[in-house]
Amino acid sequence: MSNPPFGTPRPRLRPRAGGTLTWLEDAGCRGLDTELFFPAGPRGPGRRQADEAKAVCRACAVRRQCGSWALATAQEYGIWGGMDEEERVMAHRRGRLSTRDSGTAREKGTDAQ
Ligand code: SF4
Repeated sequence: MSNPPFGTPRPRLRPRAGGTLTWLEDAGCRGLDTELFFPAGPRGPGRRQADEAKAVCRACAVRRQCGSWALATAQEYGIWGGMDEEERVMAHRRGRLSTRDSGTAREKGTDAQ
């Protein structure tokens, strides 16, 4: 994925109707410079920056919620839930595949219920 152009607006953290972001109160990145989570690129200093951000995410108590939120809201840029842009695309594809797989199992009557 290409880098966002300089000055790309940061995602808004306002919940959609009915949604809440209470998990942000326990975010491991709370109080840190948000720039860390928006690396300049996938190589060189940007790569080191992404690795540093992912290390924060690995220790974060709300990593799962953060990653799910980023996938559900299709965040295009930055590190969310320990995933960079490319990893979120792959996770999204895996999710679609597993949904398709479970549908197939249901159709076959092989899923346990
Ligand atoms: S997973 Fe990473 S980006 Fe998400 S809240 Fe935790 S520290 Fe912040």
